[in-house]
This record gives sequence, structure tokens and C-alpha cells, in this order.
Amino acid sequence: MHHTDSLGQAKEFGHEAIRLMEQHGVAPHPDNFTIWYDYASGSRPEVTKALDALIAEGAEFNAELCRELLTQYYDDEPDPLVVGDACDRLADLVGKISEQIGVGADSHHAYCDRLSDITRGIGSTDGGGTLPNLVVDLLSETRSMLAKNRAMADELGKTSAQVDNLRRNLDEAREEALTDALTGIGNRKHFDLALKSAAVAAVDDEEPLSLIMCDIDHFKKFNDTYGHRIGDQVIKVTARVLRENIKGRDVAVRYGGEEFAVILPHTALRDAVIVADQIRRTLASRALMNKRTGESYGRITMSLGVSELRPGEPLEQLVKRADEALYQAKREGRNRVSEETRPETAISLSA
Ligand code: GH3
Ligand code: MG
Ligand code: MG
Repeated sequence: MHHTDSLGQAKEFGHEAIRLMEQHGVAPHPDNFTIWYDYASGSRPEVTKALDALIAEGAEFNAELCRELLTQYYDDEPDPLVVGDACDRLADLVGKISEQIGVGADSHHAYCDRLSDITRGIGSTDGGGTLPNLVVDLLSETRSMLAKNRAMADELGKTSAQVDNLRRNLDEAREEALTDALTGIGNRKHFDLALKSAAVAAVDDEEPLSLIMCDIDHFKKFNDTYGHRIGDQVIKVTARVLRENIKGRDVAVRYGGEEFAVILPHTALRDAVIVADQIRRTLASRALMNKRTGESYGRITMSLGVSELRPGEPLEQLVKRADEALYQAKREGRNRVSEETRPETAISLSA
């Protein structure tokens, strides 16, 4: 979730979030702040809807409910190591904002008390000498309140700039934690998250979901022949070929080493096999050579296995079937696409 609110807006939403948290007895935890900030800004309609309903039914925002909300709307499992430090800093900032608002409220109360003293003074005076004094008092109290307000607004402005900055860093850190450094495509962690959410969407939308697992053929030999560094370049080329042959919501990742995976939402097995074969042909057709020296590295091929999600099955099963299909492609001679064994095949034997 990227927050692009301006400083002024962020300040307003931040105050509102803290006010609401206070009002509903929500612990000022940074995670909770995220929820209520989004609620205050209305940036996530599903969160607004959920909180409106909970507030309307007078729900108690205890730790358990807050945790449930987080799991439901914010559970994208960022790397705890990367995020831990930023969370601490966010907690500090939230504390600071609370304190600043507290100071503001105190001086506001003091001002109100003073104001009512003066007003009482005006009410009880029978005119004459005391009234101008009261007006002078009133003016000086008002001036001092204005100055305090201004100072508080400045402080809050600074703090909320820090919050914005931190959020940006957090988003970047999360992005980095999910990206493979060599190829720039997603990594294994990204794969796990993307597959999970694609599977949820597939069930919700009643759409098929397919998976391709790919592994470069005889890559050890390639490395032995040309060296690891050239091998790395081949891994980059392969990632590019994957990216070129997918579109829209498809997700290609480096699964590990010289293995890749492609998640294909809204795609049935038959169409996924076509995509897989397109990837295979593109890579096999590419002559690899060193642009600078003209040295040729020949061609590289890949074996691919394809599976389609079956209703209700755990995701490990989907991955396992694509993996098995991949190893079948290896066994059958490499540089080919193999699809999962269909359950019907097994059933027909016992008929
Ligand atoms: P197969 O066709 O059966 O897949 O043979 P293979 O040689 O590709 O398979 P194997 O699993 O035996 O070897 C994979 C090799 O991939 C081992 C390693 O040298 C190489 N490899 C894995 N990750 C990297 C990497 O990041 N860079 C480079 N250059 N090579 C890698
Ligand atoms: Mg391998
Ligand atoms: Mg291999």
C-alpha cells in the first residue's frame, strides 16, 4: 500500500486516526495506526466498510479484534527483519504524535479555563476600571494560545513528514525483500505470496489458475565450460525471456538457482502449456554470444512442467505436480514441456 497523501493531508489523517483510536479504545500500536490511518483517509474502501460496520455494532476493539483486522486486510507477511526496525521507529513516532496532541490538548484546556475566568470577571464587573484590564488579559492569553498552536502545528508537521518518509522506506524495503537481485524479477518469497493471493482470487472469481515450473538444462555443464559469471548472464537472459512471454497479471519469479516459476491466473492447463512452449521456443532460438568479444556460447534450453489448481487442494500439491511434470520433461530428453498427469488417466485404468 503506497500512501501518496500530501503533508497537509497526512497530518490531518494522522490526527484523525489517533483521535479515533483514542475514542474506540484502540491500543496505539503502529499496526493499528496503519488501519486507522487508512480508515481516516478512506484510502481502502474494504477497511472503511469493515470498521464502519464494527463501530455501528459497538464492537470492542480489543487486541484480538485488531489482530483479526490486520490478518484480514494487511497480512502480506513482510520480511520481519527488514520491517522490525522500521516498526520500532514508527512506534516512536506514533508515541511522539500522541504526546504532541496531549500537549496541545493541555494548553487548550488551560486556555479555556483562563477564558472562563476572564468571562466571569467581565460578567461580575460593574464597568469602570477593571474591564480594560480584562480585555488586555484576554488578548494576551489568546496570543499565547495562538503561538502555542503554531508551534504545535510545526512540530506535528515535522513528525508527520518523518512518518511519510518512514512509510516510503518501508515500502521500498518490502519491494526489495521480494525481488531477486540478479534478475530484477520476483524471488521465492514473492512467489509464495503471489501464489497464495492468486489462489484466493481464483476461487473467488471461479477462474482457473495454472503454474509453470522451469529449470535450465545441463546448466552445470554450461557453468563448467564458460564460467559462473557467464552463467549468471544466462540466468538474466532467461528471466527476460520469461518476462517477454507473459502479460498482465501473470507473475514470473526466480524460484532459486537456475529454476523459475510462472503463475498464470485466469488460465487453464491447455493455455498454460501453450505459454510454456512459447517460453521454451523463445529461449532455445536465442544464440548466446558475448557482444564485446563475439565469442559464442551456443544455445541454452529449458525444461518446463505445467499444472492447474484443483478445487480445495493445498498449494503444495499444485507445485508438486508442476515439479513432477518438469522432471518428466527432463527424463524424456529435456528442451520440452510436460503437463501434469490428469486424475482421469489414473481412474480409467481401474474401469
Ligand atoms: P538438468 O538439465 O538436469 O537440470 O542439469 P543441471 O546441470 O542444470 O542441473 P543441476 O541441478 O545438477 O545443476 C544446476 C546448476 O546450476 C548448479 C549450479 O552450478 C548452477 N547454478 C545454480 N544457481 C546458479 C547461479 O546463480 N549462477 C550460476 N552461474 N549458476 C547457477
Ligand atoms: Mg535445478
Ligand atoms: Mg538444471
